[in-house]
Amino acid sequence: MRYISTRGQAPALTFEEAMLSGLARDGGLYVPETIPQMSDADIRALHGLPYEEVAFRVMRPFVGDGFTDEVFADLIAKAYAGFGHNARAPLVQLAPGHFLLELFHGPTLAFKDFAMQLIGQLFEEAMTRRGERVTIVGATSGDTGSAAIEAFRGLDAVDVFILYPHGRVSEVQRRQMTTPVESNVHALALHGHFDDCQARLKDMFNHFEFRDSVRLAGVNSINWARVLAQVVYFFSSAVSLGAPERKVSFTVPTGNFGDIFAGYIAKRMGLPIDRLVVATNQNDILHRCLSSGAYETDEVVPSISPSMDIQVSSNFERALFDAYDRDGAAVAQLMDELKQGGFRVSQGALQALREHFDSGRVSEDETMATIAEANRSMGELLCPHSAIGVRVAEAGRDPAVPMITLATAHPAKFPDAVEEASGIRPPLPQRMADLYDRAERVTEVENDLAALEALIQERIAQ
Ligand SMILES: *Cc1c(COP(=O)(O)O)cnc(C)c1O
Repeated sequence: MRYISTRGQAPALTFEEAMLSGLARDGGLYVPETIPQMSDADIRALHGLPYEEVAFRVMRPFVGDGFTDEVFADLIAKAYAGFGHNARAPLVQLAPGHFLLELFHGPTLAFKDFAMQLIGQLFEEAMTRRGERVTIVGATSGDTGSAAIEAFRGLDAVDVFILYPHGRVSEVQRRQMTTPVESNVHALALHGHFDDCQARLKDMFNHFEFRDSVRLAGVNSINWARVLAQVVYFFSSAVSLGAPERKVSFTVPTGNFGDIFAGYIAKRMGLPIDRLVVATNQNDILHRCLSSGAYETDEVVPSISPSMDIQVSSNFERALFDAYDRDGAAVAQLMDELKQGGFRVSQGALQALREHFDSGRVSEDETMATIAEANRSMGELLCPHSAIGVRVAEAGRDPAVPMITLATAHPAKFPDAVEEASGIRPPLPQRMADLYDRAERVTEVENDLAALEALIQERIAQ
């Protein structure tokens, strides 16, 4: 299995090389050259299997020879051993035909643990085998950073630097990043928005001299290995509702288009998915684009669902690549236009996107009302991101097709908003109840590439 860039100009890589490099050298994102297929019989055979076994069968064809079957199965087992729920991704019913996929039982209480815990294991294995050291730099709107730090803390072959927008993450998110005591963990609070963090991260990857000198690796949602790990729970949940005999739809609270793109890959592999519904908050570039074809960046307006406060949705490039029949030059041109503020998706490509994706946008008031309503009528405390999904799903779903809404974070990760909406302050699970008592360690940084690079070089030299 080889991986090619969405901009058509970078060399094709193996799974392991694509995982270790993150962003392609032509600025594009890696995608598999072909999509492995699961037949109806393959899907039927997943019924009743443990999550880890489903994960192995779904991911194995993408991974290639770099990891043996035995090693890969062992890394999957280690990745999910620390989850607080035996099912890993349990499904609960909200209403007739509407289900919630709880993806928040990992160590940092958000769905990103599914990918990050596995990536930590894969990196450690690959670097140990190569006898090398890497510098992981990530940009986060809150949840990626805590998940990455949790996955990489204390590893010998890795330094991890996380850029987050100063003052714009929740206290739980911040503390999860600033309280680990391991010296290979570096939390950096950048004066700017998430998009600034992401832009500086991309700058570092495009500065090849720096990139090579620190052996830079990325674990943002642009990393293919993360997308792949997220494909698994689309299979496990659909199968538990009767796939492949019965179609299901998914609603996914979305910012960077990573999680929903994983659903699209599941569909391309053969999982019978009817609709994939993008649910955005007031930062609604994806909803506007799918509605009108115009992909135009706007100011980020901070919301109570901060992990979706994004105006440049990185993984959307992968969907565009397919919608433009894998024409890398066409994608490269759109991305050039984006630097001037936006682009218009061609009619043909927009039609191709709409074959798979629907979308909806939820205001702050509607998010709060949905949290209150779900608590009142279902006894379910939703985090604001998950509430956005539930709202969009309820507004547009076909009663004949079961809808699965992804619950992307635990309500206790956003206790202020949840309490204001529902009157209930969700407690942290027992295993992290002392988070508010631990000492914090963080470095404030300016939105300046040269200063950031100097800081990273200085820290890893120590
Ligand atoms: C990251 C995140 C999202 C958005 O996921 P994408 O893959 O960026 O679309 C939604 N909800 C929560 C809680 C998140 O942490």
